[in-house]
Amino acid sequence: MLKRLYKSLTSSSKSASSDKSPSISYANSSQEAPEIISRDDHCISRKQISKNALTVIYDLRRAGYEAYLVGGGVRDLLLERSPKDFDIATNATPEQVQQTFRRARIVGRRFRIAHVRFGREIIEVTTFRGSHEQVEDTQRKNNKSQTNDQGMLVRDNVYGNLHDDAMRRDFTINALYYSIDGFSVLDYTGGIEDLKNRQIRIIGEASQRYAEDPVRMLRAIRFKAKFDFELETETAAPIRSSGHLLAQVAPARLFDEMIKLLLSGKGQKTFKLLVEYQLFDTLFPATAPFIRADKKTDNFDYQLICNALANTDLRVQQGKPVTPAFLYAALLWPVVREEADNAIADGTPRLRALQLAGHYAVDALLSSIAIPKRFSIPMREIWTLQQRLETAHGKRAITVLQHPRFRAAYDFLLLREQTGESVNNRGEFWTTLQIEHPVNREEIRQADKKRPRRRRRAPTQNQEASK
Ligand code: ATP
Ligand code: MG
Repeated sequence: MLKRLYKSLTSSSKSASSDKSPSISYANSSQEAPEIISRDDHCISRKQISKNALTVIYDLRRAGYEAYLVGGGVRDLLLERSPKDFDIATNATPEQVQQTFRRARIVGRRFRIAHVRFGREIIEVTTFRGSHEQVEDTQRKNNKSQTNDQGMLVRDNVYGNLHDDAMRRDFTINALYYSIDGFSVLDYTGGIEDLKNRQIRIIGEASQRYAEDPVRMLRAIRFKAKFDFELETETAAPIRSSGHLLAQVAPARLFDEMIKLLLSGKGQKTFKLLVEYQLFDTLFPATAPFIRADKKTDNFDYQLICNALANTDLRVQQGKPVTPAFLYAALLWPVVREEADNAIADGTPRLRALQLAGHYAVDALLSSIAIPKRFSIPMREIWTLQQRLETAHGKRAITVLQHPRFRAAYDFLLLREQTGESVNNRGEFWTTLQIEHPVNREEIRQADKKRPRRRRRAPTQNQEASK
């Protein structure tokens, strides 16, 4: 199918060359007419599109609005992959979308969109965005367009037409529109050509687009890892020197982005790219110095994180559940280990040292990535259980098997052992003990869910010091 698309692309771009100018760089062009790839020249069929997304498009059209399928849905179908979700672009404002669909909800402040819910499926409906350059003062006053001192858009709610919308999207491969009229694909930015050449190209001037929204750098890395595409030279060029901009992004948004980056089955590759492009430094400032220490492959901490991610990637491919807690436990382990070692050197017992170090590592992360408590609590349990796993024997060891976080902590011990950390050779001990003393994990999980949670405040360094 892709061959069909590519074959036809050669001919369609030829035919386009007679009436448009195919040699220009669409990514930076102000040309308003799109290249149109007709239904016979691409592989998208309506059958592949979610029924709910089609309903939204048809209903918006019936209500008199324009509506297109856009973004990852179109890109993935052209790559013959199943899209994760379907996004729709329209000239209806979020309020008008809400009037058309009673089940629609307006979400977001920085970037307002409408969510139309169909049971478990949510169709994201985005109003065509427009250029911020000619925005009137009144629009700024109305909070539709707002940038901070570094040029980051803290409000991106200026509306425009379809062409403007294409220019406001991040990468050319994400700015393709599927039209229900004639079932053609509209390409304003040369996205089809870039898909064919397997490259990720930012629309517009790269450093400006990253300054407006630094998350675009993470998205570039994510798509590179996901599709094994190249970053086009100008798209890649400013990334290494712009990583610090990520510090301006809301930590809650970064947490969501990190989930997409690390838990989508390409985590290991993505992590390596984040380090290579120096974005890791701003995301995990406390871990970064350990990763940089000696160069990568023979670096224990780098290897431990790679191994944890390889593990997670495998589970994702096998359709098994994965939790961010285990991954973050690995991502912060260098910090926890060193902090704990320092405290032990000062005479703190190992268990207490691990507890304190766990608090410190989570606190250090919170300024960049807002990890929710439902993950940071199990992370700290994984770390503190390491002490018991390294030392417990006899009846005590059997009790440890009952701990709701035993399994994750045991996997973590194996990860450390596998990477070459000294864990008193305890991996095999616990593997055997589990066979000798089988435990019903499901029962423990259910009991843990019912366990009343005591709200405990994290001890601060000062409180600890005063004890
Ligand atoms: P995925 O397969 O992960 O869903 P996607 O490209 O569809 O990939 P979404 O987050 O669903 O990603 O976004 C939908 C579309 O919205 C993108 O394809 C892109 O056109 C546009 N978009 C998303 N984030 C940005 C951004 N930060 N800046 C500009 N455009 C963006
Ligand atoms: Mg999407």
